[in-house]
Amino acid sequence: MAITGKVVLVTGASSGIGAATARKLAAEGLKVGLAARRGDRLEALASDIINAGGEAIALQTDVTDPASCKAAVQRLITEFGRIYILINNAGLMPLSDVDALKVDEWQRMVDVNISGVLNATAAALPFMIERKSGHIFTLSSIAGRKVFKGLAVYCATKAAITAFSDALRMEISPKHSIRVTCIQPGAVKSELYEQITDANYRKQMNDLEKSMTFLQGEDIAETILFALKAPDRMDVAELFVMPTEQGW
Ligand code: NDP
Repeated sequence: MAITGKVVLVTGASSGIGAATARKLAAEGLKVGLAARRGDRLEALASDIINAGGEAIALQTDVTDPASCKAAVQRLITEFGRIYILINNAGLMPLSDVDALKVDEWQRMVDVNISGVLNATAAALPFMIERKSGHIFTLSSIAGRKVFKGLAVYCATKAAITAFSDALRMEISPKHSIRVTCIQPGAVKSELYEQITDANYRKQMNDLEKSMTFLQGEDIAETILFALKAPDRMDVAELFVMPTEQGW
């Protein structure tokens, strides 16, 4: 499908996979809305994209707040005329054991990883239904397919959005011609591990990074591009993307 000029909202665009995807899609000629909380990062990325000849707008957004998501979508539409693609990418992964009872971290994961996806989807969906076209991506994880110690709540949130994405596809794809894609990566080099407050798990993740070559954000951006460029008749419903060296 031709994608040049299409309008996309990327949540979690201030770093990692989201920033790499925003750069890649802008380079492909898409108009990109950059959503996250760190406005300075978004402004810097928007400037980079514009200086490289692309189109982008920084939209400071907290995905845990439905009104903030609605405002971001509304501003994107005011600026670029419509929204065609939503990339539900914002997420957190502070690892810890359940008996450490880091309940504030559990709640933040539920708020960002699950509610954030629902809020952004609810904000964008009416405009896609109105046009009977669109594409909603959700960044789940290998952790949405299997469970790991230390990731109980994270796995639960990713399993939840994997389920949501598939049911969303069944409901809206045939009815409204909106495609739905769930991306499930293994380990990707990003800032995700910097939020780990548990010293043992932080060390474990640092050791893991030394022991194998992680994917780069650009690899996931390429994956998203593949699904986006597929012919209209084809919905890439799920993509499980692993580092070659990740044998688990
Ligand atoms: P990063 O930590 O680099 O990026 C996370 C992004 O989420 C940041 O841009 C952050 O921006 C944003 N974010 C966090 N909270 C909020 C919020 N309340 N509102 C809006 N944005 C928010 O990690 P990744 O790029 O690795 O992660 C992107 C996605 O990919 C996540 O959903 C993650 O679970 C998933 N994933 C990552 C893997 C990996 O190994 N890295 C593997 C599998 C899946 P800000 O702080 O500015 O708000």
